[in-house]
Amino acid sequence: MDRYSKIKSIGYIGEEGFKKIQNARVLILGAGGIGTNTIVNLVSMGVGHIGLVDNDVVEMKNLSIQTLYNEESIGRYKVDVVKEWVEKYNPHIDFKTYNLRLDENNYEDIFKDYDIIANAFDTQKSVHLVNKLAVKTNKPIVFTGSHELEGSILTVIPGKTPCFDCYIERQLKVAEKEYGVTQATGAIVAGLQSAEILKIILDMGIAIHTNPLAFNMLLGLIERPRIYTSKTRKCEVCGRPLISYAPFYN
Ligand SMILES: [Zn+2]
Repeated sequence: MDRYSKIKSIGYIGEEGFKKIQNARVLILGAGGIGTNTIVNLVSMGVGHIGLVDNDVVEMKNLSIQTLYNEESIGRYKVDVVKEWVEKYNPHIDFKTYNLRLDENNYEDIFKDYDIIANAFDTQKSVHLVNKLAVKTNKPIVFTGSHELEGSILTVIPGKTPCFDCYIERQLKVAEKEYGVTQATGAIVAGLQSAEILKIILDMGIAIHTNPLAFNMLLGLIERPRIYTSKTRKCEVCGRPLISYAPFYN
């Protein structure tokens, strides 16, 4: 039985689409609550070439939101634990790890091997850096954010759509390290991120979320806010007009 028959049976994908998935090159930034779920999604659907950047070690508090790790993983580098899991679960994937902190000096060597970026870093500083690097290298990127029971995504296709820094309010729920969140939040965000990546790989061109999409688990709401484009102010990163939008869940 074909390992991927469930995926190939999807009308939009088929054998042709699956070849694109096998040839895809996706770089995942961060192996935390969202990144580990996105890894599971992409590895299981057979994305052929995957890179993972992370330099954290597993801590006890990670186990409630990052199910690839267990109590024996504590103190080990996340990239090492994830690599072992991938090698057992789907050894047909070309899976590379980068145990480092991404910065302006080391990104070029890493980014050149990938066509799409899945951002799962969770600090404002790292998200702005990654946005700048993706725009500079012209790589499509899917941003994610999660905070308590809320999450959001934004896809940026450099040269075609607004970048992360174009949004004045920057309301993606990108929080600093110590915040409450659940495995369920991360799984939903990662599911949405993986779907966006799949659509970019397949070039399906439908409903890529190039304006923010947010959800609130408690309210049971998924929302895409109304967008307002500035007539005078321009983004410092990509040069497009700045964008403002109404707060979520009004
Ligand atoms: Zn911009």
